[in-house]
Amino acid sequence: MDYHQLAAELKSKFPNLTIESDHPLAPYTTLKIGGPADIFIHVKQNQEFIQVLEYLASLNNDVNSFSKRSEHEPAYTDPEGSGHRKNSFASGVPTTILGNGSNVLISDQGLRGIVIKNSSNSIEIINTNPIKVDFHHSYTQRKEDEPDKYLDFTKLDYDESDQPQVLVKTASGTPLPLLITSLLNQSITGLQWFAYIPGTIGGAVWYNIHGGNYHISDYLESVEVFDMSTSQVRSIDSKSLDWTYEKSYFQLHPELIITSLTLRLFRGDAQMATKVRDAWIAQKVKVQPMNSAGSAFANPALETCQKIWGEQKSTGWIIDHELGLKGTKIGGAQISEKHANFIVNQDHATAVDYKALLDLISSQVKQKFGFDLVPEVRLLGEF
Ligand SMILES: Cc1cc2nc3c(=O)[nH]c(=O)nc-3n(C[C@H](O)[C@H](O)[C@H](O)COP(=O)(O)OP(=O)(O)OC[C@H]3O[C@@H](n4cnc5c(N)ncnc54)[C@H](O)[C@@H]3O)c2cc1C
Repeated sequence: MDYHQLAAELKSKFPNLTIESDHPLAPYTTLKIGGPADIFIHVKQNQEFIQVLEYLASLNNDVNSFSKRSEHEPAYTDPEGSGHRKNSFASGVPTTILGNGSNVLISDQGLRGIVIKNSSNSIEIINTNPIKVDFHHSYTQRKEDEPDKYLDFTKLDYDESDQPQVLVKTASGTPLPLLITSLLNQSITGLQWFAYIPGTIGGAVWYNIHGGNYHISDYLESVEVFDMSTSQVRSIDSKSLDWTYEKSYFQLHPELIITSLTLRLFRGDAQMATKVRDAWIAQKVKVQPMNSAGSAFANPALETCQKIWGEQKSTGWIIDHELGLKGTKIGGAQISEKHANFIVNQDHATAVDYKALLDLISSQVKQKFGFDLVPEVRLLGEF
């Protein structure tokens, strides 16, 4: 594939968009790690995003060429072994969507094909009359040992499910912190539990983020997707999808690109929600370093922990107290001194440095306790 020729075609088709060849991706991630994209496209509006996707879909004359991830595979690899979420078009152009890059480790070699950085940003309150449907929420399995030292959500949680509801439509590239603040300013509550999560709302849905006791799926009414296999925009009712801890339907369907979504939120107590948001941020800022990709690994399953420790343990506790690896450095990457389940870019780290720490932790857990940790960070590109 001649990517320079494709970039020239894209530039003439979309003269108002930022389209670059061999463009470094590190600045678009919280880790500030990653080599270049062959072609980088920056979209800032929902309509632009859809037009670019339509054009890329038109290059695809083989709808069966999309890679689909099997449910049994580790979340951070794809069936072709290239380690990243990829849509292969018949023209041979792999395409990766990047939100705020807060959950990814991009290879030092960068990403082949097209990377679309999604900054589409809009917030629209759909209904003004109060509505009410039953609010169901799925308690997360999140747990921190030593809550005094790390995160204590018990004092912050409260129930607002009896409040009048409101529907809010938002473009998928809207930054979550901006969405939370903008809605609180309009007395719309419900997202305060997700404060300090530095992703876009599209990335949040793709991952089914958790904050305190809640998942983003608890608040999701519908998701609008561009289906690369049919070249159609369609809306999917959130209730028709299976949502579990850190898992979404979209992880198994790379042909579905999230373009916008509708949330069911509350006209609740904005003062109380703002207090919770601020208190939650104050706790998280102390233990969750921003120069990371969030938690490196998911917590082990309860059954696994019960057999070894007689109770649930967090991965951070295991890395700190059982392996004694807190603070360990490889190259410029370090297992954070603040929280042992966060790996940070301390000093010009490479993806190889970060991956070496992931491997060190996984292999020591396997050797000492006999189980496999599941990475939370998504590895994109060749490793
Ligand atoms: C300091 C810190 C704290 C964090 N705290 C939490 C936390 O409390 N809870 C939690 O759950 N996570 C947490 N995270 C992880 C991360 O912020 C979330 O997973 C976030 O939602 C990722 O969104 P993003 O836009 O950055 O996605 P990215 O990292 O850009 O992408 C992640 C994946 O989503 C896919 N994707 C992104 N947008 C789309 C789209 N529009 N359509 C289809 N696919 C898409 C990408 O291709 C990629 O595979 C934290 C991270 C950091 C750095």
